[in-house]
Amino acid sequence: MKITIAKTAGFCMGVRRAVDMVLDAANQSDAPIYTYGPLIHNPQVLEMLETKGISRLDTIPEKGTGMVLIRAHGVPPEEEAALKKAGFTVINATCPRVVLVQVIIRKYAEKGYATIIVGDENHPEVKGLLGYARGNGHTVTAMDQLPALPVFENAVVVAQTTQNTAFYDEIKAFFAEHRPQYKVFDTICGSTERRQQEVRHLAATHDAVIVVGGRQSGNTRRLAQVAEETRAVATHIETVSEIDFTALAGFRSIAITAGASTPNWVITDTCSRVARHLEHQRPVAGAIFRIQDFLLKTNLLLALGAGSLTYACSVVQQLPRTLIHAAIAMLYVFSMQVLNNMFAIKSDTYNHPDRAVFYRRHRLVLALVALSSGGAGVYLAYTTGVMSFFILLVMSFLGLSYNLKIIPRRWSSKQQIRRIKDIPGSKTLLITMAWGIVTSILPAVDTRSVPVWVAVAFLYAAGLVFSRTAFFDIVAIQGDRIAGRETLPILLGKEKSFVLIRYVLIATMVLLAGAWLAGLPFLLSFLLALVPGLMLVLICFFEKDSQVSGTQMEFMIESSFLLTGVMAAIL
Ligand code: SF4
Repeated sequence: MKITIAKTAGFCMGVRRAVDMVLDAANQSDAPIYTYGPLIHNPQVLEMLETKGISRLDTIPEKGTGMVLIRAHGVPPEEEAALKKAGFTVINATCPRVVLVQVIIRKYAEKGYATIIVGDENHPEVKGLLGYARGNGHTVTAMDQLPALPVFENAVVVAQTTQNTAFYDEIKAFFAEHRPQYKVFDTICGSTERRQQEVRHLAATHDAVIVVGGRQSGNTRRLAQVAEETRAVATHIETVSEIDFTALAGFRSIAITAGASTPNWVITDTCSRVARHLEHQRPVAGAIFRIQDFLLKTNLLLALGAGSLTYACSVVQQLPRTLIHAAIAMLYVFSMQVLNNMFAIKSDTYNHPDRAVFYRRHRLVLALVALSSGGAGVYLAYTTGVMSFFILLVMSFLGLSYNLKIIPRRWSSKQQIRRIKDIPGSKTLLITMAWGIVTSILPAVDTRSVPVWVAVAFLYAAGLVFSRTAFFDIVAIQGDRIAGRETLPILLGKEKSFVLIRYVLIATMVLLAGAWLAGLPFLLSFLLALVPGLMLVLICFFEKDSQVSGTQMEFMIESSFLLTGVMAAIL
């Protein structure tokens, strides 16, 4: 069974920007926050906003306080002015592509041009655009309405950004022939068009198409219509609970796409439930999938990776090839990661719905296993030397206090820091430091390691861990924002974070080349350099292609750490 996730599935740029803006405002301010009208047509997102205390304002009161967010569709300028006059601070989240159309209309309206908008006059975007036409705006939704329009001396013609391209081409042809003096602008947003083209292609190459998104969402409904017009069996669902899995069983290939207002967590939940359900029907593939899923959810794969990396770092430092430090690293990383996942259930509900359910269900057992594992790690460190013991003890306490509210609420406003976790960007950097210490410094403290090789081992481990953590932070950006976490990708932005990861991985490879010149055996340097090289290829691939399922992607990245130990053991 083949499952393909559409590259264009989920929030478009304008919707993502509006959701990010309202969440950032809610996370940074104690003031009441409203959206002017429903932010988007998706019940799960609207529910999530309510849990964050973000209410909806449908009419403008005479007086008000707090912030009001104007959604991606935009509003007429008089309504924006009325919101400000009432006393609200306005956050204008109008999509830049809609702003472009508003600018065109305003510019020509000021010169006396009439405005013709191809779009539905009741749609909020069109209502907003009409507000810029200085009372001389006209809408058309069908070809037969064109001859009935008054003939203007000068006019501009624009389209609602989500308009059908083929229909707008006919409109343009009409004006070119009958009103050549009119200025016609191409204002349809490419996002809608690309989404429809992709669903057409997926429907032609798959047996069934599942379209995920709100029933009130116009673009999701259109996507389902496009899929229905093809030979594939198309289903429009709002949540995964609506899927008829018995009907899916007969198909050999299924494509999953989603409207521009469907959040990632609904798409992720649908994909993983469909994959799990279908894999169950194939004994071998199903067993492999379940093992991968278990290793990832429990963090056993990550712990094994930490052990492998520690072994590789010990080989770089020319330390005796014992496995005790690898075992300490495994126990420490396992313990900290499980405890962190338990504290991250809120953001995991949006990033990793499956894992959130798993941690809620087995909370007690996981807590006991994590604490025992942490204790066993500290004991093993004690057997290797007093210094190792103290370092690991301090790191364990820091790890445990990462999520605890150290500063009381009365001393802090919403924007201020109460936990270590609240320090912007701290997660990626602290995980990198902790792994670097446990995999390369700890094995060195009670031995006579050469400082230069300790530094090489530390930087190598830190480079890999930073890249892996920052990459998963990018994947989790939507849920982290909802939970109010300020991870590195939230601070830097997705694109800059990808660039940073690429530089860090290249620097890690260059580090090994330098280590070879400084005396590290060529084969060891070369084999270890292959791991950041592989991560670089995987991350660049996932950056461009989102069609791989979350479990497969996570499994491949986490397995890279196992390779470090394998490479070191070859020699
Ligand atoms: S569909 Fe296009 S114009 Fe509309 S909000 Fe999304 S990016 Fe902006």
